[in-house]
Amino acid sequence: MIQEYLYKLKLDDIKKHVRVENEYYVTDLVRCPLKREYEVKYPELILRQAYDPVLLMGDIVHMGLESFIEKLVKEGYIKGKAHIEVEGSKKLGDIVIKGRIDAIIEREDGERIGIEIKSSRRDIGLPHQHHVLQVKIYNWLFDLNKSILIYLTPDRIVEYTISERVGEDEVMELLKSTSTPRWDWECQYCIFSILCPKKKS
Ligand code: SF4
Repeated sequence: MIQEYLYKLKLDDIKKHVRVENEYYVTDLVRCPLKREYEVKYPELILRQAYDPVLLMGDIVHMGLESFIEKLVKEGYIKGKAHIEVEGSKKLGDIVIKGRIDAIIEREDGERIGIEIKSSRRDIGLPHQHHVLQVKIYNWLFDLNKSILIYLTPDRIVEYTISERVGEDEVMELLKSTSTPRWDWECQYCIFSILCPKKKS
C-alpha cells in the first residue's frame, strides 16, 4: 500500500517536469549535457527511476529533513520564516534557467539562506564539486546570501556553508559546455550509459 504511493509520487514528479526548448534546470548545468538530449529522446528510461530504491530513500530523507527544518523554525530554534521546496527561474536572453532548492530561510533582517539536502551512501570526497556548483547557482538564482549544503550519510552528517555565487557569464559558459561527460565518474552512474557512444569507462 505504502510502496504504491511511493512509486506514484515519484512518477508524478518525473512527469511534471516536461522538457521545453530553451528551458534548462540547474541540474542540467552541473551534469553531462548529453543527458538532457537523451531525456527528451528516451523518456521511458527516466520513468524507470521512479522504482529506484536509492532515489526513493533519498526522497524520504529529504521529506524528513524538510519537516525537521519547519519544526525548528516553528519552535523558534531557527529565527525567520521557512519556505520549503522553493521553485524559481531567471531569464538569460532567450534561455530560462529553472531550479528547485530544498528550503530557504528568510531572516527578519532580510538575510536569505538556502538549504540543500543531499543523502549519500558513501562518506567520500565531500562536499562534491558538482553539488557545490549547484548551490552556487542556487545562490545566484534565488538571490541568497549563502546556502547550507548538508549531507546525510551512514558514517557522517556534515554541513558546508557556501557563500559564493556564480555570475551570468559562468552560467552561460556552463550552458555552452560540450564536455561529455562533465565529470570523470559520471558515466558509471548514468542511466543512458547503455546506449551512449560517448560513455567513458
Ligand atoms: S554515458 Fe556518460 S557521456 Fe553518455 S550521457 Fe551518460 S554521462 Fe554523458
